[in-house]
Formats: sequence, C-alpha cells, structure tokens
Amino acid sequence: MYSICICHLYPDLLNMYGDRGNVIALQKRCLWRGIDIVLYDIALYQLFNPDECDILFIGGGQDFEQEIIMSDYMEKSTDIKSYIETDGTVLAICGGYQMLGNYYKTGDGKTIELPGLINIETVGTKNRLIGNLVFEWENDVTGQTHRMVGFENHSGLTYLGEGVQPLGKVLKGFGNNGQDGLEGARYKNVFCSYAHGSLLPKNPQLADYIIACAMKRKYPDAPDLIELDNQYEMQANQSMIKRILG
Ligand code: GLN
Repeated sequence: MYSICICHLYPDLLNMYGDRGNVIALQKRCLWRGIDIVLYDIALYQLFNPDECDILFIGGGQDFEQEIIMSDYMEKSTDIKSYIETDGTVLAICGGYQMLGNYYKTGDGKTIELPGLINIETVGTKNRLIGNLVFEWENDVTGQTHRMVGFENHSGLTYLGEGVQPLGKVLKGFGNNGQDGLEGARYKNVFCSYAHGSLLPKNPQLADYIIACAMKRKYPDAPDLIELDNQYEMQANQSMIKRILG
C-alpha cells in the first residue's frame, strides 16, 4: 500500500483563514484513492525529519507569529533546504511563502534575514493587499490552464529572483505585489501562493498536482493518480469565480 507523510509546520501559529484546510484536502484526496496518510503536526521545538516527509505544508501568519517562530525556523532551515533540493514537495501560503525567501523587510523598516530556501524577497508596505484573488495556473503536465480562486491579505510585496517561476498570472486581485501581474512561486517541487481560503479544497487540480509530485518522488513506478469526481469542488470554484469576475 502507498503511504504519504504530510508534515504541517507550526500548525498552531501559522494557520490563517483556514489554511489547515489544505492539509485536509491533501489527506482526503489521498485516502479517497487508497493512499494511506501519516500526518505530523510539527510545533515549535519539535523535530522536522526530512527523511520522513513527503509533503511539507506551511501556512500563513502575521508578522508577530512569524517573529515568534523565527529562531526555531532558522534551525530547521538546513533540513528544509536539503529536503527541497532533493525534490521534496512543499506547499507554502502567504506568511509561510515569504519565510522561504532571502529576507523580509517589514513595513516598519526592520529587515528579517531569512534562509533563502527559494530566491525571493519580500518588502512590507503600509497598505494591505486584501481581497478575493483569481489567478490562472497552467498544469505543465497536461498543458491545461485552470482558474484558481482564493483570498489574500498581506502587506508584504514579494518579488521573484532568478530560478524561481511564478505559480500563475493574476486575473483579479494583487498576487505577489500588485504590480507585475504574477502570483505565487514555483521552484522544483515547492509551490507557493498568497491564496488563503483555503486554496486546495476549491482548486482540486492543484491539490492533485502536488500529490502527484510527492508520489512520483517516493514511488517512481506508481501508476498515475486515479481521477476523482470533482463536481462539488468545481461548483465551489466556479461560483466563487463568477462572483468575483462577474
Ligand atoms: N505577515 C505577512 C504580511 O502581512 C503575511 C500575512 C499572511 O500570512 N496573511 O505580509
């Protein structure tokens, strides 16, 4: 039997706007396919073992929570880096996304040095970027594009450096910085987005893409994922998009 281990980093501190729903979506979509799930909540000072992880999830948090976890996170970052560089799968949302980068300059002028697990930089502003977010994501395996929906609320503006691709293109909302029309980031098997809400329950194609990445790394000979009936997920996706785009 196939088994996937999801590690949820700082679930009690980084869990805005129901980010944990992403973990539940991954868990359910694996179980519905007969793929067993082991779920580890990794709190402050608990061990992250990259050898036991197949999907690492990091949710969003305000600057305050980000500061609380910083010294523990910096200690864990060497292991997270080796996990990422060996094609480990990561989903990081908003504050969790920002923390993977090189640094975060807060709105009040403080520079927080970060481990640079992916080549991005974030600069805080006084204005918050708040609202519903719709972006287009292209599945590079099928070549199909999908409209993804979520909700964003951040003051950090994120800029992608060399080697990092955007996750998608903004159709409505701000995305990474409200200027370049890009949303989120992709580096190796790391997926980052500003979309809370939660992202994966309403965007099942991305959920399955992430599960497929983890499966391919752990079980290279496993068959492709079985298709699931996504009618309820797509109804949620479509009705939100209709409401937002009109
Ligand atoms: N603290 C970050 C910001 O405001 C992240 C917020 C969040 O995760 N929603 O930019």
